[in-house]
Amino acid sequence: MGGTFDPIHYGHLVTAEAAAEEFGLEQVIFVPAGQPPHKPPGAVTEARHRYLMTVLATVPNPRFTVSRVDINRPGPSYTVDTLRELHARYGPGVELYFITGADAMLQILTWKDAETLFGLCHFIAATRPGFRLSRLESVLGPLMERYRDRIHPLQVPALAISSTDIRERVRTGRSVRYLLPDAVMHYIQKTGLYTGQGRPVPVTPGREGDGV
Ligand code: ATP
Ligand code: MG
Repeated sequence: MGGTFDPIHYGHLVTAEAAAEEFGLEQVIFVPAGQPPHKPPGAVTEARHRYLMTVLATVPNPRFTVSRVDINRPGPSYTVDTLRELHARYGPGVELYFITGADAMLQILTWKDAETLFGLCHFIAATRPGFRLSRLESVLGPLMERYRDRIHPLQVPALAISSTDIRERVRTGRSVRYLLPDAVMHYIQKTGLYTGQGRPVPVTPGREGDGV
């Protein structure tokens, strides 16, 4: 599951768990983007914070892990590169499923080497509230026809949670309790992230290893 995870929240976690259960996935690897290609550099929080919050959120689930492949690779984080790297690491016998929100999936035609991606992995397109699956068919058109067996829609319990809303809540001093794991909420409070005040951060940057 790729994402900015700025911050990770229960929408991501519920989706990952539902995907693992529905498709019998052995593990879900959360891959925080280094530099998201669709967002201007500097628009996202430093990678080390997003990585640590993702680790804090996923630690309790034995099926969840976090990878630094995108963070460690310089330049924009293209999914095609991520998938190639994961294939190289896990070997040809392993099948990869890329878990994504159906809204993100709509933009797949703008991703680098879009068509190549379907040869590298299956896609699990999770629907958020208010999303009609027919939109996916009309936007993807012939691609959806050709790769129908590689695209798997997944209905997830209605969770209208987004990182954008959480950042806004923190900035305006409103509660984010129950929208994300307590450990992530505490990390945000401790570091002063999203307050817009740029407080010094008491977390020492280190050379963390790859994965957890
Ligand atoms: P932002 O508001 O900053 O864009 P976000 O909440 O969309 O953040 P991302 O890190 O951009 O989070 O999302 C990573 C992936 O998780 C994307 O594929 C996105 O579509 C999906 N996703 C995000 N929130 C939800 C949710 N509430 N339910 C299901 N999928 C979600
Ligand atoms: Mg998003």
